[in-house]
Amino acid sequence: MQSEGKEDFDLRKFVPEEEARKTFAKVFDRRTIQALHRLATRGYFEMVEHVISTGKEAHVFQAVDKAGNARAVKVYKTGTSDFNRMRVYIDGDRRFGKVKGSKRDIVLAWTQKEFKNLLLMNKAGVACPMPIVFFENVLVMEFIGKGGKAAPTLREAPARDIKKAYKAMVGFLARLLFKAELVHADFSEYNILNNNEKLVVIDVGQAVLTSHPEAEAFFERDLRNVATYFSKHGLEKTPEQVKQDVKAMEGKI
Ligand code: ADP
Ligand code: MN
Repeated sequence: MQSEGKEDFDLRKFVPEEEARKTFAKVFDRRTIQALHRLATRGYFEMVEHVISTGKEAHVFQAVDKAGNARAVKVYKTGTSDFNRMRVYIDGDRRFGKVKGSKRDIVLAWTQKEFKNLLLMNKAGVACPMPIVFFENVLVMEFIGKGGKAAPTLREAPARDIKKAYKAMVGFLARLLFKAELVHADFSEYNILNNNEKLVVIDVGQAVLTSHPEAEAFFERDLRNVATYFSKHGLEKTPEQVKQDVKAMEGKI
């Protein structure tokens, strides 16, 4: 029955590549496929080209619109995520209040939160994908990469110039904190793309306003991640030093 519903949308045309189509059929419920289809019919993308990443909470696909622009389409799973963890980052963020209701409601709020955070970050001058649209559990954004290939993470492709990378990371943290009034809350080499030596911050569904009761604890964790990463790559830093470097930028950005 369910697969008949999925066939309504002519999945083959919409997702021509078999591997991507398999991932679709396996992990997405009918409503998610409808949401994707709706965005497609509204012109936000024409075709899903392939799977970029299959994560615990979301799958990311590369898509293309009619004009040939590459798009990243991040689809949050409504079935298997860690909803209680998500709740911590939504409750306490005054933009959302307490999201009651179903697991699905949490995932929808999360998707909207990532969209809003990307907008705030863009405005604050943090290098991140430009958000284009969200609908239900689907977020469409600018594709970061070149020649149809998604940029690797900083984890996969360490920066050539470590000092320059450190400066960029401190700049991100400072702009996030002082201009966007956000704490990323999962700031690490896994969530920074190295786009031909230009670093780009991604994965901001969990990012919270600085007024969130846990914001400070999340910020300290981000600082520890940065210190650990750079210490491993030949630039010894303590979390306290990273914090000082961030604080030193207040009023200068
Ligand atoms: P999660 O970690 O929750 O699965 P991310 O937002 O970190 O989700 O995305 C997972 C992966 O998808 C990234 O490591 C990257 O490879 C790819 N990706 C995410 N957003 C983009 C984007 N805008 N452009 C290109 N690739 C992206
Ligand atoms: Mn991630």
